[in-house]
Amino acid sequence: MNPFEWTEARSAAEAAGLASTTVAQAMTAPDGTPLSDDSAILKAGGVDLLDLMKEDLLRPRRLVNLCAIPGLDAITGDGAATATHDLRIGALATLEQIAAHAEVRQRYTALAEAAQVSASPQIRHVATLGGNLLQRPHCWYFRAAFYHCLRKGGSRCYALFGENQYHAIFDNHTCAIVHPSTAATALVALDARLELMDKAGTRREIRLERFFVSPDTDIRRENDLKPGEIVTAILLPASPPSLRSVHLKQGEKETFDWPLADVAVALDLAPERHCRRVAIVLGAAAPVPYRARAAEAALAGKILDEAVVARAAREALDGATPLAENGYKMPLLEALVRRALMKAAELI
Ligand SMILES: Cc1cc2nc3c(=O)[nH]c(=O)nc-3n(C[C@H](O)[C@H](O)[C@H](O)COP(=O)(O)OP(=O)(O)OC[C@H]3O[C@@H](n4cnc5c(N)ncnc54)[C@H](O)[C@@H]3O)c2cc1C
Ligand code: SF4
Repeated sequence: MNPFEWTEARSAAEAAGLASTTVAQAMTAPDGTPLSDDSAILKAGGVDLLDLMKEDLLRPRRLVNLCAIPGLDAITGDGAATATHDLRIGALATLEQIAAHAEVRQRYTALAEAAQVSASPQIRHVATLGGNLLQRPHCWYFRAAFYHCLRKGGSRCYALFGENQYHAIFDNHTCAIVHPSTAATALVALDARLELMDKAGTRREIRLERFFVSPDTDIRRENDLKPGEIVTAILLPASPPSLRSVHLKQGEKETFDWPLADVAVALDLAPERHCRRVAIVLGAAAPVPYRARAAEAALAGKILDEAVVARAAREALDGATPLAENGYKMPLLEALVRRALMKAAELI
């Protein structure tokens, strides 16, 4: 690992001012050499960042530690409710804090469930929600310095005709990463917003769904974070008491790993199981958390029963283009969508 300098940021605006580049920019190089220029990079829990540095994929000159910024890990509920949000989760809140938080568990259940099944207990105590949403993809070609693929500024995707069993089944024709954040699957279903701040202290808000960037828009970054910006919070909208949300994950093993497939559902039912509103999001399926809009449309205004749910679950896979080794994700995701809907509708 290259030597680097260390700065303790004391405020979000100071950290934003020090962040000269994003990790995506610092890792993109035409000749395959990670940039070791003047880059100063934000560090939260450091779980993903240090991995990249140890693999020599990233050589920042300076790390800007966010962990000492007062209040950036706070989760504030009703007392802080505003017109645009009901629950504010500071970007430095850890996955463990979120999984254990009583209000998150009760009102935004899918998020608590997604945090609870991410990684291992040790990692969850260190990993922050902000860092989790901004971690880089786990495509094994991307993570190996030897392969200089398109996403790092190279000329080809090695996964499309290589080992692609963990890759995307949607939107996979140029770069077939799956979005690495499990929490993002739930947060998109819950229609979360992101709050960001620049060095002048100016805040902007963006729907999380719009913050993520697909390879067709820009193959070299996964999100719309700009240099000189910091994520300060994740904002959750008010949820009616009738809204139920569920997150389900299927992994190769019970714990300690990213999902093979995961699904989040946010379902608002009127009496008699009449579907008022539903969001269905597939994780580990596409380069960004994937909204299964055909399935959502199939449920809108319907009375939910087992047959209606089963049909919608099939439609969730409409338009999928599995690669040579990941066709198994089709029945897996269909089953997860069906089970998540059945659970949210209290049919099981
Ligand atoms: C064995 C293992 C299993 C795992 N399993 C899962 C899993 O199942 N699901 C899952 O989702 N994840 C999983 N992870 C990934 C882990 O959850 C993430 O690496 C972690 O959440 C990153 O958070 P961090 O705080 O350590 O971020 P860091 O590593 O500190 O930062 C990550 C990125 O975010 C940027 N950043 C961090 N905070 C901010 C901010 N506030 N504003 C702007 N930029 C910021 C950094 O510059 C960097 O680019 C696993 C990791 C391991 C090692
Ligand atoms: S899937 Fe994307 S990250 Fe992986 S090798 Fe292809 S271009 Fe690179």
